[in-house]
Amino acid sequence: MALDIQAIRRDFPILSKKVYNKPLVYLDNGATTQKPRCVVDKLVYNYYNENANIHRGVHFLSQEATEAHEEARRTVQQFLNARSSDEIVFTRGTTESINLVASSFTDECMSAGDEVIVSVMEHHSNIVPWQIQAARKGISLRVIPMNERGELDLEAYRQLFNEKTRLVSVAHVSNVLGTVNPVKEIVRIAHEQGVPVMIDGAQSVPHIPVDVQDLDAEFYVFSGHKIYGPTGIGVLYGKEEWLDRLPPYQGGGEMIASVSFEKTTFNELPFKFEAGTPDFIGSTALAEALRYVQALGMAEIEAYEHELLRYAEAKLEAIEGMRIFGKAREKSGVLSFLVGNIHHYDMGMLLDHLGIAVRTGHHCAQPLMQALGIEGTVRASFSFYNTKEEVDVLAAGIERVRKMF
Ligand code: PLP
Repeated sequence: MALDIQAIRRDFPILSKKVYNKPLVYLDNGATTQKPRCVVDKLVYNYYNENANIHRGVHFLSQEATEAHEEARRTVQQFLNARSSDEIVFTRGTTESINLVASSFTDECMSAGDEVIVSVMEHHSNIVPWQIQAARKGISLRVIPMNERGELDLEAYRQLFNEKTRLVSVAHVSNVLGTVNPVKEIVRIAHEQGVPVMIDGAQSVPHIPVDVQDLDAEFYVFSGHKIYGPTGIGVLYGKEEWLDRLPPYQGGGEMIASVSFEKTTFNELPFKFEAGTPDFIGSTALAEALRYVQALGMAEIEAYEHELLRYAEAKLEAIEGMRIFGKAREKSGVLSFLVGNIHHYDMGMLLDHLGIAVRTGHHCAQPLMQALGIEGTVRASFSFYNTKEEVDVLAAGIERVRKMF
């Protein structure tokens, strides 16, 4: 069933805000998404009604909060179609999830000279954690190149494997190009070589249906705030046998079974990876966000955002001097562009004064910018609450800026 966009927009109070006395056109959804009322209400409700530290208290309120947190974990499990809720670890977000795997996987499975395969279009959060491990342990990175459309070169990818390859870690969707990488195929090729895979789902989970059993990756990570949930909460999915195998990332309360000064034993999954008081308020609000998008339907969201992307591409391509970066055949709702010689920052600033929020700069993907031979782009990134009218406002705004230069 088609989405009722106007009804949906009423769920997001911020969308009726004015900036510089103009209606806000929010096209920075790749950076973070706006929150529906139900998610904010859930945060408030929890603080007023279910706030007690979890997993420790015998009292009523603590048990209620514990049950809500674990119910949230089951919601995430079901959303990703994971086998077990033990495979869902709550983290602070994609960045922390990747750092967790980089640290624990390197400690357990890698030694000097071993290699991790990433792609040229990774966000810094899937590059720098590996470089930190490289400095610690002498591992190194191999990089999958892309073609002119911004699609990964799978033949080159196959050639990167050797007896030193220990892990593949790639983005499902590029935050700059919008490319939807063929992650199922990427996983299949890695598995042929006996190599596990981590997928960065920061830009995919909010926009396309994801089934971790179908993809078969060992690890899959995403951030709550990019899928209409609160900031400060995210998810690491890991196959149980892998999470079991990896050592804890941080030490503290919650992640232990017993502690003495002589010896500590660790808790079972998933608590082994959740040291300290978890964000039990955020987890339940994230679950609320997941229920919200599920009620709309991930397939419907994907279809609508795709329609919006195609509409926007046609509109923007008609603008003189327009260069769009990322022409992949499989693409999600991200449009990176430059117009003539106009600096991305100038374009972003001037669009902002028209009420249009876009991202400018390197988008935390400097190696990709180097590969493209540019310093940065302007990026419009869409959500299901955006409209074709807003795309028209964007196109008219770009045209206006172009004429000023
Ligand atoms: N990976 C990709 C592809 C992203 O787009 C982002 C954020 O923009 C991240 C990782 C990092 O996400 P977070 O800052 O929520 O940890």
